Amino acid sequence: MMEMKKERNIPNRTGETADPPCPEACAKLLAEWFARRARDLPWRGIQDPYGIWISEVMLQQTRVPVVRERWEAFLARFPSPRELAASDDDSLLAAWEGLGYYRRVRQLREAARTLVERHGGRLPEEPEAFAELPGVGPYTKGAVYSLAFDLPLPAIDGNAERVIARLLALEEPARKKPGRQRIEAFVLAMLRHRSPRVINQALMDLGAGPCSPKNPECHLCPLQSPCRARQEGTSSLFPVLPPRPRPTPVETHLLLALHGSCFLGRRIPKGEVNQGQIGLPGLGLPLPQKRSLEEYIRENLGAGAQAGPPLGSFNHSITRYKITVHVHPLQLHGPVQEPFAWFPRNGSLPLSTVTRKTLARFQQSLEQGGGSRA
Ligand code: SF4
Repeated sequence: MMEMKKERNIPNRTGETADPPCPEACAKLLAEWFARRARDLPWRGIQDPYGIWISEVMLQQTRVPVVRERWEAFLARFPSPRELAASDDDSLLAAWEGLGYYRRVRQLREAARTLVERHGGRLPEEPEAFAELPGVGPYTKGAVYSLAFDLPLPAIDGNAERVIARLLALEEPARKKPGRQRIEAFVLAMLRHRSPRVINQALMDLGAGPCSPKNPECHLCPLQSPCRARQEGTSSLFPVLPPRPRPTPVETHLLLALHGSCFLGRRIPKGEVNQGQIGLPGLGLPLPQKRSLEEYIRENLGAGAQAGPPLGSFNHSITRYKITVHVHPLQLHGPVQEPFAWFPRNGSLPLSTVTRKTLARFQQSLEQGGGSRA
């Protein structure tokens, strides 16, 4: 736990009191830097709030290169809230494949349905009405309405939070009320002096670039002169965040059976992680069933079915679980029964990430071993 400084006025290296950063000057520096260094992203420069909203939701827990690949295809499939509201589970989950955290896209559809019912299928003019939609928090509201309409709303994601916490050498925890309020107040003060669209995006880009979580490149940063943390050499201490819980290691066993161009799977039922997607038979995840694989096979896959020694293993993380997935070939004798069925390996069905990883890694070695259906 970092030791908190007691004095708010932190002495600089010469022993004088450092001036607090000036929002107006910082806004100017940020805007000039952004004009030269803005990231070239496909959703930049558009002013369609729906497209911006989709990009922001995708970016919340997915890396930019993955979103870059999927954003346009998603919009081509669902070009407005109306198409999104009318989507069925399969097309919705398939369009989100690879982005993870599928709860987000279900909430997007729920929100789109509300837009169709109450707002004529468009995003409302009032940000407050938008904020009432499922899954929309202060960040999404600020990002969509500042980027689309240049409204002076802060959009403080992890990147912006880190930049401002370092700029101010913010001693309060950044996600508790007093710290959060200071960050927001500073951003709002900057938004009064320059385009909110520019300042919010500049903060996002600065946090994704020079002001990275580890080893910030302060010599490339437009805020290096006013930045308190840089002056003190304490960048790595900010923002003050609660310690991350350690991931819980677990192990599970899944079964892979192929039949022609299909694999054996099951539709993941409601209430389980990744509901609606196609999962594999086995002990499940994130927490495996508490029984042996043999027992599972006997009860679920009928007499004669049997697993071979593992084809291999891989790691996968879900929330706080770090899961080692062991994949076994499955030999079947007799017809397949519900809830299991043969699904095409290269179809457009929504496969869970673990199913995709398993097929990508092991289908070839299983085929070379002669397939798995007796
Ligand atoms: S000067 Fe360094 S620590 Fe300060 S905001 Fe810039 S990159 Fe971050």
